[in-house]
Amino acid sequence: MVTTSAFPDPLAIYVHVPFCARRCHYCDFPTVAGSDEWIPAYFEALRHEITGCAERGRPVGSVYFGGGTPSHVPVAHIRNTLGLIRDTFSVESAAEITLEANPASAQAPSLAAYRQAGINRLSIGVQSFRDETLRSLGRLHSADEARDAILEARSAGFDNISVDLIFGCPGQSLEDVLHDVAAAIAMETEHLSTYALTVEPSTPLADMVACGAAVLPDESVTAAMYSDIIDRLEAAGYEHYEVSNFALPGYRSRHNTAYWTDMEYIGFGAGSASYAHGVRKVNVRTPMEYVRRYRGGSSPVAETETLTPTQRLAEAIILGLRLREGIDETRLRNRFGSDTLRTLEPAFSRQVAAGTIERASGRLRLTRRGLLIADTVLADLIPG
Ligand code: SF4
Repeated sequence: MVTTSAFPDPLAIYVHVPFCARRCHYCDFPTVAGSDEWIPAYFEALRHEITGCAERGRPVGSVYFGGGTPSHVPVAHIRNTLGLIRDTFSVESAAEITLEANPASAQAPSLAAYRQAGINRLSIGVQSFRDETLRSLGRLHSADEARDAILEARSAGFDNISVDLIFGCPGQSLEDVLHDVAAAIAMETEHLSTYALTVEPSTPLADMVACGAAVLPDESVTAAMYSDIIDRLEAAGYEHYEVSNFALPGYRSRHNTAYWTDMEYIGFGAGSASYAHGVRKVNVRTPMEYVRRYRGGSSPVAETETLTPTQRLAEAIILGLRLREGIDETRLRNRFGSDTLRTLEPAFSRQVAAGTIERASGRLRLTRRGLLIADTVLADLIPG
């Protein structure tokens, strides 16, 4: 393991694994299905990017294998990549190391192997505990397989499990969503992420909605779903600590919190983003182009941008308000200056008067009303 004390703040490391067994109807992530022959070359390119990283040697507080479907690739690739990250960076002994798993591919032997490799947190893409909803999304697994994956993860020794749920799905009612939330609470997972379905252009779901084959709930119903999810999970003891995220005490996601608190992060793999020393970089989106760049000896970075002070302020506001504890006004003032903050005061006052933002104990935070229209509120607040 490399050690250094030159950098006090630990990095968050993200590794993108872009392979899936099949594309879900709503997916527009940088992933591929039916291209497993690219897996070995992709991990070879990843190895090259990790060992050549300019930030090597820095302390690391979290590692996150996301996708795509990391549980779709042979476990050895995950184990070797994690070993390489440990050899290249100074990964803290208490680092949070997460792997995203799909119920269709998270079976007992591989779950035990992940645990042995040092993965200590599992994020399971359940999405729903109703077969009808899962079919409407084009998911490969059933509700029973989702429950089995959670139980098998427990048997494999995972004591920090997160479950993803989607609401606002085609044909879904408020009762269906509350059924999903009740089922998730019954599984006693430590963390839950709940996302409103978005219909991205050029996805099969967009075509299904356009031709009437899929009918989405009204906006008012989707807002009621979100509001009821918050109430049910808070009543069950979950802390609503970020717009879409809930955790039992002590189980907030350290990795995602690094993004929301404006800390530095490094992404490896196709479509991944990095942010360090005020510079944001994004890699080429497709895994094939990522491999081709590696083979041709060129950088996988497709975009590099040095953030201006205005962009950094906008990010600090957008990300900070996603956290339920909100933004520390003194910290914001110290970082960006009183004059800059004064220019935002009219927008803050406008939103406070509208009941979407509240000021308390030196912090600015979204109210429940603000949460329901967060995009509109943020559009008013961010500097132009
Ligand atoms: S499993 Fe996730 S990444 Fe893969 S196709 Fe479905 S939504 Fe997209």
